[in-house]
Amino acid sequence: QPALRMQTLPEQFFATLVAKANARVATGSDVINLGQGNPDLPTPPHVVDRLKRAAENPLYHKYPPFRGFPFLKEAVAKRYKEDYGVDLDPATEVAILFGGKTGLVEISQCLLNPGDVCLVPDPGYPDYWSGVALAGAEMAFMPLLAQNGFLPDYGALPEDAVKRAKLMFLNYPNNPTSAVATREFYEETVRFAERNGVVVASDFAYGAIGFDGQRPVSFLETPGAKEIGVEFYTLSKSYNMAGWRVGFALGKKQVVELLNLIQDHYYCSLFGGIQEAAAEALTGPQDAVASLVHTYERRRNALYDALAGIGWRAPKPPGSFFCWLPVPEGYTSVSFADLLLEKADIVVAPGIGFGESGEGYVRLGLLAPEERLREAAERIGRLGLFG
Ligand code: PLP
Repeated sequence: QPALRMQTLPEQFFATLVAKANARVATGSDVINLGQGNPDLPTPPHVVDRLKRAAENPLYHKYPPFRGFPFLKEAVAKRYKEDYGVDLDPATEVAILFGGKTGLVEISQCLLNPGDVCLVPDPGYPDYWSGVALAGAEMAFMPLLAQNGFLPDYGALPEDAVKRAKLMFLNYPNNPTSAVATREFYEETVRFAERNGVVVASDFAYGAIGFDGQRPVSFLETPGAKEIGVEFYTLSKSYNMAGWRVGFALGKKQVVELLNLIQDHYYCSLFGGIQEAAAEALTGPQDAVASLVHTYERRRNALYDALAGIGWRAPKPPGSFFCWLPVPEGYTSVSFADLLLEKADIVVAPGIGFGESGEGYVRLGLLAPEERLREAAERIGRLGLFG
């Protein structure tokens, strides 16, 4: 009989989605998979080369040091200084993680007791829920509504939930809505968090991906942010390194220390060769980042032009690589996603998978070449549901 905490663990949403898509591919259909947020572009070659060379270093064949090599922490601190003007002490304000995901789940275990509340964006990335469930704590959802630019309205949160809240997740550029945060919103967030004793976990997984010449702001740029929260940063999307599992928690010392402590019990650290290559990604030439942003922007434009052509209109996403599109009348997010899979061989993520406020939307990833995105729009157009 599994432990109680395993029984309250929600089903891993993307695992289910991937299984559905794979089952369709197995039938021999020409599936266009825009469902999971798995970048289709390759890791920059100089990073791969660095790993190949580093793999021969006998130092890395032993256990890596607990909490990782200092050079990788210095590399990420340097990147934050260059990109955001944020000073981070590599020794005390940086934790190396196995992708952002591990830290996003572990932070709830580090900070929440049963009876505590975690403020969670709705719609939002489902892994936040898992950590809260494993901690035996409660969630209070912060609706992200189109009329508020998909930012939470702190004034509208129930008082009791705010009183018991110890932790809050934010994620901009946002998955799934693609919204980006403003400096003013982050300033308001710091004031709200200070006033209510809430730790902020800013998930900056899509931090590098902003369109139309706009660079998304980091939460840590906000005065006082480092005293009240941590930012989760990852190489998965910015450097097309999702398979490498390199992420970081940056900021508030006490939280960084707790994350390091919990990880001491699970892992020593990432393979040293990966750490060396990750440092190369962060401190070497950065043109690959600009180039992937350009690629996603072109894909976005191609898809939205094609969708407008079939009468499916929505504002273009300002960041991330997701498109958050309203479903046609008469459908739920699940019935529409199922229809697209069955009648058009297109995998999309139903909005309800990200929370109740996600109902009425589907999420499409810009994760296929432009011609495939146009083809997807054409197939959807043939269903004759729009315009
Ligand atoms: N946060 C968000 C919002 C994501 O969409 C993802 C991945 O899809 C992650 C975190 C996980 O990133 P990582 O690959 O660093 O674990």
